[in-house]
Amino acid sequence: LLDALADQAALAIERVQLVADVDNARLAEEAGKLRSALLTSISHDLKTPLAAIMGAAGTLRDYQSALPEEDRLELLTTVTDESERLNRFIANLLDMTRIESGSMEPNAAFHYIGDIAGSALRRASKILAHHKVDVRVPAELPMVRVDPVLFEQVLFNLLDNAAKYAPEGSIVRVQAESTGERVLVRVFDEGPGIPPADLERVFDTFYRVRKGDHVRAGTGLGLSICRGFVEAMGGTIAAENRTDRSGAVFTVSLPLLPDAPNLKDMP
Ligand code: ADP
Repeated sequence: LLDALADQAALAIERVQLVADVDNARLAEEAGKLRSALLTSISHDLKTPLAAIMGAAGTLRDYQSALPEEDRLELLTTVTDESERLNRFIANLLDMTRIESGSMEPNAAFHYIGDIAGSALRRASKILAHHKVDVRVPAELPMVRVDPVLFEQVLFNLLDNAAKYAPEGSIVRVQAESTGERVLVRVFDEGPGIPPADLERVFDTFYRVRKGDHVRAGTGLGLSICRGFVEAMGGTIAAENRTDRSGAVFTVSLPLLPDAPNLKDMP
């Protein structure tokens, strides 16, 4: 992970260099600052849920018999929810290190995107319970060569963001289409969208558009993991804003292989 942080620091240095002709001592200082900013961000993401778990567990231990059933249940829910959040963050960190060390070997085979979208949506059903979900994956879509576990994670991260950043009651759309050469899988939401200057940077490790986004259950890792996974499968991922209304669109583009089978031709 420290290597990943150092890489991130190196990238920032390159940017700094473009702006001003800074000397080596200054560069080392910038790298040091960035490294500690990233460590602060990680510590925050670990400490926040842990503090909630410790608080809830301590209250349960000390006041168990005095608490009404519904309060006990609420405290236990805090423990399980926050543990899940910690677990997700650690899993994300591990994914990141796997991507950055280049040790990820996708297990690619032909899959129908509709199936993978279905399992990502099932996994996200709880977090999308207050949104309307609209799925448009044509039955005649050719199969694509992907690692189903990685691809499901990519879609899940995009759905998770849509649920986090778009208001309750709004529509989250998953759409897939073939251009003949590529298969495009898109996730549309009706949230605030992304400031144009940040459309590329949202894929950077730990990058967040709004400072306030820190209070949401995010890690700043979701999209960099998406990009790492998609690129490992030979595809690309990009963010745009919707032109028809406010909202973000994430497009995953995967190459369509000439020998790709079609689900509708399968026995
Ligand atoms: P996080 O865990 O913070 O959501 P991500 O890497 O998934 O981290 O996203 C990086 C940042 O991009 C988010 O903090 C948020 O500012 C912005 N972002 C991601 N998805 C959306 C979206 N669907 N709508 C608006 N902003 C988004």
